[in-house]
Amino acid sequence: MEDEGPECGKPDFVLLDQVTMEDFMENLKLRFERGHIYTYIGEVLVSVNPYQELPLYGPEAIARYQGRELYERPPHLYAVANAAYRAMKRRSRDTCIVISGESGAGKTEASRHIMQYIAAVTNPSQRAEVERVKDVLLKSTCVLEAFGNARTNRNHNSSRFGKYMDINFDFKGDPVGGHIHSYLLEKSRVLKQHVGERNFHAFYQVLRGCEDKELQELHLQRNPALYNFTRQGAGLSVLDSDEKSHHQAVTEAMRVIGFSPEEVASVHRILAAILHLGNIKFVELEESSLEQRGLAVTDEVLVDHVAELTATPRGMVLRCLLARTVASGGRELIEKGHTAAEASYARDACAKAVYQRLFEWVVDRINRVMEPRDRDPRRDGKDTVIGVLDIYGFEVFPVNSFEQFCINYCNEKLQQLFIQLILKQEQEEYEREGIAWRSVEYFNNATIVDLVERPHRGILAVLDEACGSAGPITDRIFLQTLDTHHRNHPHYTSRQLCPTDKTMEFGRDFRIKHYAGDVMYSVEGFIDKNRDSLFQDFKRLLYNSTDPTLRAMWPDGQQDITEVTKRPLTAGTLFKNSMVALVENLASKEPFYVRCIKPNEDKVAAKLDEGHCRHQVAYLGLLENVRVRRAGFASRQPYSRFLLRYKMTCEYTWPNHLLGSDRAAVSALLEHGAGRPPGRVWGVGQERAGLMEHHLPLAPQAWR
Ligand code: ATP
Ligand code: MG
Repeated sequence: MEDEGPECGKPDFVLLDQVTMEDFMENLKLRFERGHIYTYIGEVLVSVNPYQELPLYGPEAIARYQGRELYERPPHLYAVANAAYRAMKRRSRDTCIVISGESGAGKTEASRHIMQYIAAVTNPSQRAEVERVKDVLLKSTCVLEAFGNARTNRNHNSSRFGKYMDINFDFKGDPVGGHIHSYLLEKSRVLKQHVGERNFHAFYQVLRGCEDKELQELHLQRNPALYNFTRQGAGLSVLDSDEKSHHQAVTEAMRVIGFSPEEVASVHRILAAILHLGNIKFVELEESSLEQRGLAVTDEVLVDHVAELTATPRGMVLRCLLARTVASGGRELIEKGHTAAEASYARDACAKAVYQRLFEWVVDRINRVMEPRDRDPRRDGKDTVIGVLDIYGFEVFPVNSFEQFCINYCNEKLQQLFIQLILKQEQEEYEREGIAWRSVEYFNNATIVDLVERPHRGILAVLDEACGSAGPITDRIFLQTLDTHHRNHPHYTSRQLCPTDKTMEFGRDFRIKHYAGDVMYSVEGFIDKNRDSLFQDFKRLLYNSTDPTLRAMWPDGQQDITEVTKRPLTAGTLFKNSMVALVENLASKEPFYVRCIKPNEDKVAAKLDEGHCRHQVAYLGLLENVRVRRAGFASRQPYSRFLLRYKMTCEYTWPNHLLGSDRAAVSALLEHGAGRPPGRVWGVGQERAGLMEHHLPLAPQAWR
């Protein structure tokens, strides 16, 4: 490997003299202090967020990594992107890059660098269609961040959704399309933000960035503090000028992607309607008449604005806000007036749902533009794919709710995949091939995944049952059922089961011992968030909008209330299904891992908080990863492929061998071929040739 300069520590943790947490941390720290934020564990890349611009990126750096093998240059994201790209191109293998780490660890930045690398090294012949696809791929990030990211206390540009992006390549290795899957947008943020945090960027960008005239048409004023949905966290300290330039960048990106000016205007109107909706308040009238249903809106101008901006009839908007239609026995429909509390709840549900549909529409719109046009006929019309996963890391807050439960379950699933792919498979392979091997202990989190997703008794199944039952099941009863089912589960507890643990509140909290640490969840709101229902009246209202963009977001508004009998899948089940599909998809690809570490909680440069990092190293399973990697051969490939590449270096194998098996031919090649490495350092199993590369730091290129 190219020298990184004096005293920069080991570029691969596998090369440590001893694998202890102390040694690992020492190496990590030393490298971080020298500006080497990347280190390998074999092919896994560990990345520490530098919180400062380092001269590591750009065209020159890209050129240094282009076409090189992973170990030729110092560890870098570009090397991983290049390895995934080469595997895809050389061997027509679908690959994926899984980026993980906690909030603020640098996942989204990493995925951006990976995309930039791929964009830079492809399409040397400048084909117009490929350039278009690359443009869309790069610009899509900017648009998705506007709608899906927000300022939080942990990260000023925190992704509040999970993202998996497939990039499709043709036989030349050029990107010809792509597809984005988004996971579980944190839509509760539309209504509420913690102190110091903000709503999604898009709201502020419209307020600060739109021209005066457009703002007037949206009936908005510049100041976010005037709107309930954008003033709660009071985390407003972003420079107006930045907001304005972001707004311009997003609008330009939308234009490049192919959003029409009418669509962009609709998007602005929808955002404005949500802001107005948030300011609507209700009063219960003392003298209620049937006409007024006992409830009124305090500021009716806001209803006018919402109706105008959503292109729906004012009367219908008001009716949806004050009452709902219910089917009473048979097909008879009656209107049931809301109480003030019910109306506020319905308003909030509507605001959240409108934003979620908007977000999904944006993703869908980008996907339509990226749909590959010319499929490669040699793969039955299937392109080769590189997938990039940038998904929320493990979350623990002072109060954790349904969202954290889903996010942490997602991390359990991904950890399970990591164990399957990196730890378990590796060990099993050695055993299968009869190579001497000392087992490495690691914690297998399968039991926690089972606790959450097991049919009938798992937490999600119990929650679904609670949501589906006719009577008024409360969060508390849901908790009691969990207690009954999981009384003896080693990873589950609650105050009921452990009365001496005063950190949990009776009837409210349960705790899961996750692989990454203990998290206490408050069941308050679990049922409601899982049910995730919106009155059909709102859906119908929005489906009947004369704005085609908004209308397209509400196809289910066509249904009549009497037709809506089937219970829709709950948020938890939908999420579980999407996680199962994601893991299946990733498992079918050749994986590359980027494990991101956040160096400190203060978001400052040149500070590595050891305690904080140790915790991340522990829960990412990095030490186990090093041990497994060290215990075996760092690089391997099937005999046939090895022969194909190197047979010309040996008279017994060139042009073809007569040695009976590829395995025997590889043995001969290693024994007699040119460029033979010093000493016997290779292991030959039954199916594969292993080269102990980490014991061969100076081995000639031909052996890589
Ligand atoms: P979340 O889960 O909240 O979305 P994340 O892991 O995606 O977090 P990023 O948004 O990628 O985190 O990074 C947080 C911030 O850290 C960035 O806005 C940037 O300021 C800084 N940062 C991350 N990676 C780098 C890097 N390689 N070089 C310089 N700064 C970086
Ligand atoms: Mg992110």
